[in-house]
Amino acid sequence: MIQICAIASGSNGNCYYIGNNSDAVLVDAGISRRQIIKRMKLMKLDIRKVKAAFITHEHADHMRGVRVLSDQHSIPIYFTKPTFKRARPADRPKNVEFFSPGDSVQIGEFTIHSFSKIHDAIDPVSFRVTINGKNIGILTDIGKPCNNVNEHLAGCDVAFLETNYDENLLWNGPYPYHLKTRVASDVGHLSNRQAAELVANIDSSKLKHIFLSHISADNNRIDFAMEAFNGLKKEINIIPTSRYEASVVLEI
Ligand SMILES: [Zn+2]
Ligand SMILES: [Zn+2]
Repeated sequence: MIQICAIASGSNGNCYYIGNNSDAVLVDAGISRRQIIKRMKLMKLDIRKVKAAFITHEHADHMRGVRVLSDQHSIPIYFTKPTFKRARPADRPKNVEFFSPGDSVQIGEFTIHSFSKIHDAIDPVSFRVTINGKNIGILTDIGKPCNNVNEHLAGCDVAFLETNYDENLLWNGPYPYHLKTRVASDVGHLSNRQAAELVANIDSSKLKHIFLSHISADNNRIDFAMEAFNGLKKEINIIPTSRYEASVVLEI
């Protein structure tokens, strides 16, 4: 059995869990170690199973808990070299492994495929994790879809997919103008509409579950994100995530 959970998801902190009976990997650790452990315990997920964590890019909402988590639980952290160099020195763990975008890394029965994506970071990547013939994509912080994102998402059974903002809420919301344009730009984030279009534009016949991920507190509402996927809902199980607590643990 594979267990899949968003320990935290939102524009202020991201941490995603994929595990089987003996091992697990995390993608990003953008909330404190204490919060990660607390939330995992509540969901009956064991930190001792976590054999590695993979980092998508250097933004704080993906990095905040990395060093302490790694130091206290002896977890190796996988970075691209530019991302490691760009991370704040205080966030850099000692136990580091490097990969290049396009590499695949084997951790127990898990194969973690990395690929470049478009986002305003030094070397942004996303991941597709293969285990027991199933594929789980972690696709957040995407300015606009590219071939890599399209191809990897089409291979997924389960995806954490960014639905960062509702376009009306963003443009009529509290952000200063330069931030609004950054979020909506080609190197910012995917809106609800863009995410739903992305799924509609690929062969999604394998895709059974989507976690609506990296939702903005100021510029989105979970019901708006759900609504954007209405047309697809019959075939695909749409699962909400939260910045405040772990999502349900999906078992496949
Ligand atoms: Zn982010
Ligand atoms: Zn980011």
